[in-house]
Amino acid sequence: MNMGWILTSSGAILFSVTAMTLMVSWFVWNRRRFTGGNVLFFLLLAIAGYALVAGLEASFSALGWKVLWSTLEYVCSGPVATLFLIFASRYSGYDQWMHGWLRVAVWSVPSAAFILVATNALHHWVWRGFLPGPAGSNAVIYIHGPGFYAIAAALYAYVLIGCGLLLRSAVRPGVIRQRQSAMLLLGTLFPIAGGILYIFGINPIEGLDLIPISFFFTGIVLSIGVGPLHVFDLIPVARDTLVEQMPDAVLVLDTRWRLIDLNPAARELLNLDSSAIGRTIEGVPGIWDQIQSYCDGGNGGRTEFPLVESPLCYVDVRVSPLSGPDQLVVGYLIMITDITKRHVAEAELKKANERLEAQIKKIEALQVELRRQATSDMLTGLFNRRRLDEALPRELKRAQHNGSIVSLILFDIDHFKQVNDRYGHEVGDRLLQFLAHLLQERTRPRDMACRYGGDEFLLVLPETPLEAAATRAEEIRVAFSSLWPSIAPREGQWEVASLSVGVAACPDHALTEDALIRGVDQAMYAAKEAGRNRVCIADAKEG
Ligand code: GH3
Ligand code: MG
Repeated sequence: MNMGWILTSSGAILFSVTAMTLMVSWFVWNRRRFTGGNVLFFLLLAIAGYALVAGLEASFSALGWKVLWSTLEYVCSGPVATLFLIFASRYSGYDQWMHGWLRVAVWSVPSAAFILVATNALHHWVWRGFLPGPAGSNAVIYIHGPGFYAIAAALYAYVLIGCGLLLRSAVRPGVIRQRQSAMLLLGTLFPIAGGILYIFGINPIEGLDLIPISFFFTGIVLSIGVGPLHVFDLIPVARDTLVEQMPDAVLVLDTRWRLIDLNPAARELLNLDSSAIGRTIEGVPGIWDQIQSYCDGGNGGRTEFPLVESPLCYVDVRVSPLSGPDQLVVGYLIMITDITKRHVAEAELKKANERLEAQIKKIEALQVELRRQATSDMLTGLFNRRRLDEALPRELKRAQHNGSIVSLILFDIDHFKQVNDRYGHEVGDRLLQFLAHLLQERTRPRDMACRYGGDEFLLVLPETPLEAAATRAEEIRVAFSSLWPSIAPREGQWEVASLSVGVAACPDHALTEDALIRGVDQAMYAAKEAGRNRVCIADAKEG
């Protein structure tokens, strides 16, 4: 039989499509771990088969062979549409319908199509007849009957449903999935366009089946997706899996606070099993009171609290309202994170801070005490000589600046050694303390009382004229002598304690501190020499 085989241009194109698609299918096979990867591989094999048979049809000129190859085309074209629908369902995650009898029923359309084509000689429903193609070509024009259009409509319905599913998947959140879906959609646009052109007779080369040729472009798009763009190398993690494997507890409630869903982490953390679904969260111990108190009565917010005291389990709880399409609240999402480690670390840090703060306060108090001790006399509590040396020049400078008078009074206990010798040092100390007390009692806040030496005490009186200072000195001298017996030891004979006192003033007697001290000292010694127990005023200004 003369088969009339000749390699036509459309045959060559279709064989190239076959080779290309086989190559892509090999790529896909190696990367088939993405959802629906296996189905895509078989889909590509079916496309390769379809293109191969269509290529053979285009290459043979004898009508018998042409019709035979055209019939065999349906072995592949039906499965192409069906596998595309299955792939799109799996890949987009809308494959719940693919169970039981529907899984088989979906193959009834390609099977019926093949049976219809194979028995065309009996009913001529698919091809009503055949016309020779344009002169010089070995193409044949098939005159289509209603069976053809029914098959085309059913198979294109599969393809359109598949495209719809991919489109839904493409607009779902998730960058990787969107990229993959967009790629696949682009790939499917070519055969759809090819089919439409073929069915409506818009055909650049008469008699040439554009559908398998258009799959050539699908092959290119998928090759780019699988190859250079690595679109399918990235496996999108299903969002449900993400929630399932999350270490945080996730609970979904309806508006009546009934548990609708909870992930394994929530089951473990709250010790719940699937029987908790449908029950209200108020029955879950430990969390509802806290959520109500701190999360706007359970309507939203965030709080932290100890879920279990021993062993401690501290949790961070976030409540967010879930709104439906019309913005009405349809339920609540509760996320619970175990923050025990962080909480313990924070509590320890807080304690360490408190300890540190207490230590700093203690150190500050010690520093104040140290400063006080450094500038005051231990026995009497009055300022010491060092403090006097610091303060006196300042006072004199200020007085000179203001044009005011600073007076000094120097007290020395008469025969103090004898007090020590007779009554002991302790009594001597008490006498010193008594004088110190007296000085503090009889001075103004601005005055400065200090212990100048063993039994010598100095009073600095700012803004006090000499006469007023002398009067004050006399008052203190009298008070000292008259009050001491009431607190003196009652052993032996009463000793009358007395003071020799010197008074000097700046600028009356001297302008510098050294000269002033010298002046008041001399006045005090003058009192000693004059018989003690008296007040003497310094001599006129030196120099
Ligand atoms: P005068 O009338 O000449 O001042 O005779 P006096 O005995 O008081 O002689 P002076 O002022 O020189 O004596 C100071 C004595 O004060 C010498 C020392 O034993 C005594 N003294 C110094 N510091 C202290 C002290 O802190 N406590 C006691 N109990 N005695 C002290
Ligand atoms: Mg003395």
